[in-house]
Amino acid sequence: MNSLSSMFGLEGRLAVVTGGASGIGAGIASALAAAGARVIIADINIDAAQAFANSMPAADIQVIKLDLADEENVLSVSEDILKNFGTPWVLVNNAGLQDRQAFFESTTAEWDRMVAVNSRGPFILSRELSRAMASVGGGRIVNIASAALRGSIVKGLVAYTASKGALLAQSSALAFELAEFGITVNTVLPGGVATPGAIAAKGPVPEGPARRPAPLGMCKPEDIAAAVLYFSAPAAQRVTNQVIAVDGGFSVS
Ligand code: NAD
Repeated sequence: MNSLSSMFGLEGRLAVVTGGASGIGAGIASALAAAGARVIIADINIDAAQAFANSMPAADIQVIKLDLADEENVLSVSEDILKNFGTPWVLVNNAGLQDRQAFFESTTAEWDRMVAVNSRGPFILSRELSRAMASVGGGRIVNIASAALRGSIVKGLVAYTASKGALLAQSSALAFELAEFGITVNTVLPGGVATPGAIAAKGPVPEGPARRPAPLGMCKPEDIAAAVLYFSAPAAQRVTNQVIAVDGGFSVS
């Protein structure tokens, strides 16, 4: 019989978490480290990433500066990771922009930037790192999209939703591409989590019509991290192209 640690433990395995300096990503990085993974946080805010890593001295967390909007940078960071740390077992595409834009005033440049960070960057990083995963027989990719794909309670999310829709759709195509290499690709849809990014995104855009709150309460980063841990587990080897909404039951209210 398999032990719990061989099914769900990540002892010694390498995990890359984008946007792990803050909010949900920090929760994911800390959960993966608690499961035994060596974690690399790749984030545009290197100071915050380092401060977070320093706050967890018992965990094996390294940081690297990454700007997902800059293709050259994504390519060179991928190379650095493979050269200096080895092949990741799991890549968590968590980093994301959540800026809200009043639709009639929104610009094409803002849409482009949103897509560059939220879906094009993850496309490049997944391609570069999954090539290495394939050469060692497998791995895991977990994408963080958004429950906003299933309806939102706030306005101003047209570009954001488009970028997360692209991330979700490409996850499905990627799951098919990579299955033959033993790489699974799954997606978590978080509901509202009071992170620095989500709070800052509450711009001058009016709220939508009132909706009832999520019946199970507002999510915390660790709730999202639990779903990521499942998809990252060795035991989840035959689970791919799946989507879990971790939204406090928002979809039923
Ligand atoms: P956050 O803003 O608190 O954290 C995002 C992290 O990504 C930050 O550390 C930031 O420095 C980093 N980042 C931003 N731009 C980057 C870039 N160009 N390159 C590399 N790193 C970059 O956000 P969060 O609320 O923790 O969100 C994490 C993910 O969860 C995002 O993809 C977000 O869209 C998604 N999400 C959040 C919520 C929510 O309510 N918080 C809901 C649904 C989905």
